[in-house]
Amino acid sequence: MPVIEVTYLVVGGGIAGVTCVETLAILHPEETLAIITASSLVKNVSNVSFFAKTIVKFDVNETEASSLMRIHPNLKIIFDSLKHVDTHNQVAYTYTGDEIKYKVMCICTGGVPKLIRDSDKSKRILGIRDTESVKEFQEKLRMGRRMVVVGNGGIASEIVHATSGIQKVWVIRDDYISATFIDPGAAEFFQNTFKNRESQPNQKTVIRRHVFTEEDQVVSLNKDLKSAALGPDWYRKLEGIKDDKGVQELEIVYKVEISSVEEKSDKEFPLEVVLSNGRTIECDFVVSATGVEPAVNFSLDEEPVKGPEGGLAVNEFQETSIRNIFAAGDVAHAAWEHAPHWFQLRLWTQARQMGGMAAKAMHGRVVNEEVLQDFCFELFTHCTTLFGYQVILLGKYNAQGLGNDYEILLRMTPNHEYIKLVLQNGKLQGAILIGETDLEEMCENLILDQLDLTPLVDDILNPDIDIDDYFD
Ligand code: FAD
Repeated sequence: MPVIEVTYLVVGGGIAGVTCVETLAILHPEETLAIITASSLVKNVSNVSFFAKTIVKFDVNETEASSLMRIHPNLKIIFDSLKHVDTHNQVAYTYTGDEIKYKVMCICTGGVPKLIRDSDKSKRILGIRDTESVKEFQEKLRMGRRMVVVGNGGIASEIVHATSGIQKVWVIRDDYISATFIDPGAAEFFQNTFKNRESQPNQKTVIRRHVFTEEDQVVSLNKDLKSAALGPDWYRKLEGIKDDKGVQELEIVYKVEISSVEEKSDKEFPLEVVLSNGRTIECDFVVSATGVEPAVNFSLDEEPVKGPEGGLAVNEFQETSIRNIFAAGDVAHAAWEHAPHWFQLRLWTQARQMGGMAAKAMHGRVVNEEVLQDFCFELFTHCTTLFGYQVILLGKYNAQGLGNDYEILLRMTPNHEYIKLVLQNGKLQGAILIGETDLEEMCENLILDQLDLTPLVDDILNPDIDIDDYFD
């Protein structure tokens, strides 16, 4: 096969890869650019709105990869998977035998779900990652009487929120729910929404995004390798599968892990789960949502430096230890010295930020111009929706790394808002803002400027005082 020669090569059609392609199309439209994507559908970002300098909300959509040609007519789309990289000659090889010679390349291959122990023993242990795995989950849900959900991040939270008509046992390592995102107080705030849901079982979340449906055909080109990563509203496929009049039961088991899972043919339920506290739970299936690990699913002639979780270690310009190979999104490990209020969390927000940063640095390399790290890496921010509420997380929102020496200011109005500010030495270090609080810009400024708030501590969350006036 002929060798394809390009200046820029991007691998992976998730948020990181597509943002990288889009940014390169703007920075260097006349240059040759190719994307290797394992799926005919790619993710893109729309309706970007800035709540503040670094706090950005956006929708994530899935679209045909060919639509990327609209932003970059010279873009070459290679529907395949990356197999091997010859880093010395700068050539990438795909499974079907394409050879692509690049000047700079960005790897955005995302992550694969971490499965719990014993997952190889049973088809009844499901990991949620892609469209196929959601389909399998739907099937199991339709027939199931009792499921065990393992994990305490956003995915497990959405599964618990979106499913009904089945007994759910939610097994979590922490002593409160949704620990990746929130704190015990916010968990209590959300648990009230479960109670409300039980009293109003037909209340559905309002949705303003495109819902990915069965009609949107997914063509998974290398089926055995990997399929399309999930769209944003994946969990809505779980809603309404069962009649709400069925059993509605949620039990949360705190501070435990799964010790073993065994298939049983002589019991009422086909699966037996043993927890670390010795308790045994019988169920139809287990959903494992214990996070993802970086997908370095190709070989290189030179071993790159990796982070502790196996991600490709990158510097502040998203460049790996191998010159001219950059990485962004879930596959990357942020190995630079972080700003005091930033840390890595594998989310859409950071996939987008890293994809954009990688593109700027790749362009800088090609045109020989110096680049600076983007301002967005000064502050950790994440905007999402949990259990139907807007959630904004800023800085060290869970007092990460602050030891025991911090103060918390809290304001909660049940079913309306939950505001938590984390202060150290009178200065704001992080915040959780749930509901429409309108405090995001003020909090961003206070964290970035490190203003001493000691004289204001009693007033800052007083609903009768317009605190913004202090800072005008
Ligand atoms: P991905 O989106 O995983 O994209 C990687 C792409 O690369 C895939 O299309 C894959 O098929 C392709 N690929 C892999 N290997 C190869 C190869 N060798 N060659 C070619 N192509 C390859 N984050 C949020 O912020 N909010 C949420 O609500 C949220 N919900 C989530 C729900 C689920 C079920 C999961 C699993 C994750 C969720 N996340 C969420 C996390 C978020 O999806 C990831 O952080 C983000 O998608 C990472 O983007 P990415 O571009 O790095 O990787």
